[in-house]
Amino acid sequence: MPRPHRFHDVIRLGPVQVGTHYDSRGRAKYTAACTAPGCGFSGDYPDRSGAELAARTHHCPA
Ligand SMILES: [Zn+2]
Repeated sequence: MPRPHRFHDVIRLGPVQVGTHYDSRGRAKYTAACTAPGCGFSGDYPDRSGAELAARTHHCPA
């Protein structure tokens, strides 16, 4: 999994990690990424609650 940014305030919800990072314009972005092998789920969300909701409701397809 590429990690182009440094993440802050990383939490883990099940297999999914949620972290905050800042884009090139300094705006906060919220990313949810599954750490389960072979899953590959990840997404960017405009707010933290959206990323945490995605993490909580994620079910690995594998
Ligand atoms: Zn998953």
